[in-house]
Amino acid sequence: MFPVFSTMKKNLNRRNFLKSATQASAGAVALRYAAVAGMFSANVPNIFAAETDLPVKLGGKPVRTTLFPTWPVYDETEEKALLDVLHSKKWFRGEGQHVNQFEAAFMKLTDAKHCVATANGTSAVLASLGALDVGPGDEVIVPPYTFVATINAVLMHHALPVFVDTDPETFQIDAKKIEAAITDRTVAIMPVHVGGSPADIDTIMEIGSRRKIPVVEDACQAHLAEWRGNKVGTYGVTGCFSFQASKNLTAGEGGAVITNDDELAERLYSFHNNCRARKTASYNFTYRGTRGANLRLAEFQGALLLAQLARLETQAKTRDANAAYLAKQLAEIPGIVPAKNYDGCTRSAHHLFMLRYGKDQFAGLPRAKFLAAMADEGIPCSGGYSPLNTEPFIQNAFKTRAYQRVYAPDVLAGWAERTRCPANDKVCDEAVWFTQNMMLGSRADMDDIVAAAKKIHLHAAELAKS
Ligand SMILES: *Cc1c(COP(=O)(O)O)cnc(C)c1O
Repeated sequence: MFPVFSTMKKNLNRRNFLKSATQASAGAVALRYAAVAGMFSANVPNIFAAETDLPVKLGGKPVRTTLFPTWPVYDETEEKALLDVLHSKKWFRGEGQHVNQFEAAFMKLTDAKHCVATANGTSAVLASLGALDVGPGDEVIVPPYTFVATINAVLMHHALPVFVDTDPETFQIDAKKIEAAITDRTVAIMPVHVGGSPADIDTIMEIGSRRKIPVVEDACQAHLAEWRGNKVGTYGVTGCFSFQASKNLTAGEGGAVITNDDELAERLYSFHNNCRARKTASYNFTYRGTRGANLRLAEFQGALLLAQLARLETQAKTRDANAAYLAKQLAEIPGIVPAKNYDGCTRSAHHLFMLRYGKDQFAGLPRAKFLAAMADEGIPCSGGYSPLNTEPFIQNAFKTRAYQRVYAPDVLAGWAERTRCPANDKVCDEAVWFTQNMMLGSRADMDDIVAAAKKIHLHAAELAKS
């Protein structure tokens, strides 16, 4: 199926061989050559097996040289869907039916009463806050451990993002700390189901309803995730989704807001459609709401999403099984702590497989070296997000005319101290991620991830010195 892999493997081994050869003494070169030869010839007994168990950095061979499943996944179905839109000449949602059909399908899938498709996930969050009339002087509670769009949507409305620290066990917003961050200016609480696992929805919804503050769920990573058997995104006043290229459901770009509130649904619709109400029999010039923009999804994306939707549940089942297996296996390695789910979580989307890496149990091997060693073994991984609450761009925003006019100097001056997130700082230092496409692999693929981590753990002391 992938003829490229056999050549890749040879090249990689040859490259490693050459790299080692230039570094090592002549005797060692001879040994290494014998080991490499053993890999390709069944006749040569591999008497240097021990060497193949070394990390690549120490002269061993990688756990794997093949790729994990690539993303996105498509076939003729998507091809036909796109061509159908092309030939229909109806490329705009006002003319075609694909976006409408996708909205109906996504409503059914999530069991939400309304759905408004948007240009992307950022637009979905922007529209949610816009429909709630969030604006200058308002405060929105957000987690620091998220994709930057969550914060940008708040800043675009000239509101103040108020960060609440992360629960290191789950990587989610620490719901127990939300109430202390509420002021008389708090107009929304925006948890993110980061990595695709639900935040502590029970606690967040209890605070929201008791304090009468709407909850906007940023579910951009959490397609099909469930809390107590219901889809995430249906608990808050709105739930926001992204269909950007990396997401579990994708059209390259795209997004959606779901809501069970009839009035809010119309406000969302008009916000995403330049204040224009839904089209009736003829062209509709009724403006409603307070302001808006063009945040519409195109028909091509609607058609693509409908086709991709048919694959979602099967893909999700594969991720469920792989992630459960991987978490169990990895947890056996000292220093590796996979992110936990709250009791109410009945399904994670496994958009990211997140874990905390404890370098103390890896002989002090810094995370950056662990990540590099995993990559050497053929396991792509990343260190994830940086702490958003300390990003300079937010302070830059505070220096603009609008923020300077609207917020009292002591509010802006005290913001950094007020939004300190020490637990999150540590999570950002320790996090290791694998991406959702890797969770679409085989059981053997998961075993490779575990084997690589075990190998690095075993040789951590030498790697730390190398
Ligand atoms: C991807 C993402 C967004 C933004 O979605 P886009 O489609 O990229 O605009 C917002 N929030 C979170 C948590 C995300 O992961």
